Amino acid sequence: MKNVYSTCDKCGKDIQYGEPHVSFCKYTEYVEYVNERNRTEAEVIEAVDFIMLCESCGKAVDTKLISKMVNVILQHERSTDENDNKQIKNE
Ligand SMILES: [Zn+2]
Repeated sequence: MKNVYSTCDKCGKDIQYGEPHVSFCKYTEYVEYVNERNRTEAEVIEAVDFIMLCESCGKAVDTKLISKMVNVILQHERSTDENDNKQIKNE
């Protein structure tokens, strides 16, 4: 029987089935408010795991720092897109 689910992307330790771990994912989803149940419900259309860590490495992750880094990347992409649009207009 296979016991190893994945491997930690930081320390390389095996992650066993049934063992807690930390995943960083990109979700494509939509959220609806369901009146009958008085709550919001999300449906994930696509999920892509891009980093998987063992529980120990995952607990050490600074999520505020990751959020800042992702925002820097998004701002860079936005400015690159704006520059591309300016070039297209000037051509
Ligand atoms: Zn680890």
